[in-house]
Amino acid sequence: MGKTNDLWQPCPRCGSKKVTSMGRGFFFLLGLILTSISIWLLIIPPVGIVGIIAGVVFMAISPFMKGILQCKDCKKSWKYKEGIESELNSIN
Ligand SMILES: [Zn+2]
Repeated sequence: MGKTNDLWQPCPRCGSKKVTSMGRGFFFLLGLILTSISIWLLIIPPVGIVGIIAGVVFMAISPFMKGILQCKDCKKSWKYKEGIESELNSIN
């Protein structure tokens, strides 16, 4: 498995550069938080079990969730697409 840096590109909607990457780390953390909260929620077993399963699923899919970007200005989130910059250039 080759390690690549998180992909990044400006917002395709408003062109803002205030874009955050919600890459693998983001989804893994989300799953970890969900799992740890759900362990406490096991006092209500149906809620806790569903939460733990969801958390584990998040952690399991996190290696595949690469290149999810979100714009801080217009809140748009999108998946990183190679070649979008040339697309934007042709529009301008
Ligand atoms: Zn934007």
